[in-house]
Amino acid sequence: MSRSSILIIDADSKFADNTAFLLRNEGFEVGVVQGGTAAIDRLSSALPDLILVDLRLPDKKGLEVLNKILERVIDSTKIIITGGDDGKIRAELLPIDAVNFLSKPIENDLLLMTVKDALRPKPANADRYIDHFGSLEKFFPFLAHEIRNPLHAIGGAITIIQKRSDSQDEVLSRAFRIIQEEIKHLNDFVQECLDFVRPPVKSRFIDVDINEVTNVAINVTSYMFEELSKRVYVTKDFGSDLPKIKANYEEIKRALLNILRNSFEAIGENGKIHIQTRLKGSPPPGFVEILISDNGTGIKKEYLKSLFSPFFTTKLRGTGLGLPICHRIITERHQGTILIQSEEGKGTTVKIEFPISQSGQIAGGPTT
Ligand code: ADP
Ligand code: MG
Repeated sequence: MSRSSILIIDADSKFADNTAFLLRNEGFEVGVVQGGTAAIDRLSSALPDLILVDLRLPDKKGLEVLNKILERVIDSTKIIITGGDDGKIRAELLPIDAVNFLSKPIENDLLLMTVKDALRPKPANADRYIDHFGSLEKFFPFLAHEIRNPLHAIGGAITIIQKRSDSQDEVLSRAFRIIQEEIKHLNDFVQECLDFVRPPVKSRFIDVDINEVTNVAINVTSYMFEELSKRVYVTKDFGSDLPKIKANYEEIKRALLNILRNSFEAIGENGKIHIQTRLKGSPPPGFVEILISDNGTGIKKEYLKSLFSPFFTTKLRGTGLGLPICHRIITERHQGTILIQSEEGKGTTVKIEFPISQSGQIAGGPTT
């Protein structure tokens, strides 16, 4: 497959150079122009697959350049506007599927995610109104960006106010605590949204010891539920003969954290969580299996079919993204399976299996 080509139109040479470097590293063919006239000239000879444009240009009005771009490019070229737009421009362009928006400063991860998403071939007959997944991939990074920046500013301002306030005032202290908890809640929500749409990174596939990553996830969750974990029995039964699997360590950890977190949220006093890992030999070459069981509230039978649907939650403050993220990580990215068995009032068991290849490592891997 030929490399996708990207044209950066941006008067800010530092941004343009850094972005070009980042994108070339990912294998894209990147051109840079810093003025509107040069951009229009360039586009008259060759059309790139994607244009990253900041409308603040020195020699021509950005909007004029944008209109010229829109005249020239048709569906096959995608456009990401990185600056110089306003609410009116966004409202006009939002319905156009080929156009997306980011606002500077842009985190590298977010930029790459948006570029890759824009360049990913969409099914020929995809209807964007029913293509919920496609639109979430486009919407979540935008939402994350729009929430995170003001949240960061709010967090900073609150710290200043707190430093200058009477630390003995209990009502005030409680108010600060609430604000900080809510900021954390929103940040976690945004992170979950991003995790849901984050594209797989093949280069991060390494040999992973499932027992080790499971232990790390247990420790992190126990720390998160510090108070509760003192009253909960967490037991482990780890197989000693597990082969390492080729996997994305961080993603496996994320999936286990989500599952353990659900268990902690489902159990009460005298809660029990049991985690087992084992090698399952048949059918050959076998599987590495992880079973996470709890004696929590269990799940209503009629809910079982909805557990992997985005936004399905029974919690007042749930996002309903934890299990969909697990599903994507385990089944799509690691060719494994995840099965949830549960009985209301008794408890829940989540069973994960990762297939082992002949070489003793996980089969497959993501296709990026
Ligand atoms: P969230 O935790 O934000 O609600 P999840 O996708 O992680 O979203 O879980 C979806 C729903 O599945 C939960 O709201 C809960 O009803 C149910 N669930 C998942 N794991 C368990 C568990 N271990 N015990 C009881 N219910 C569970
Ligand atoms: Mg959850």
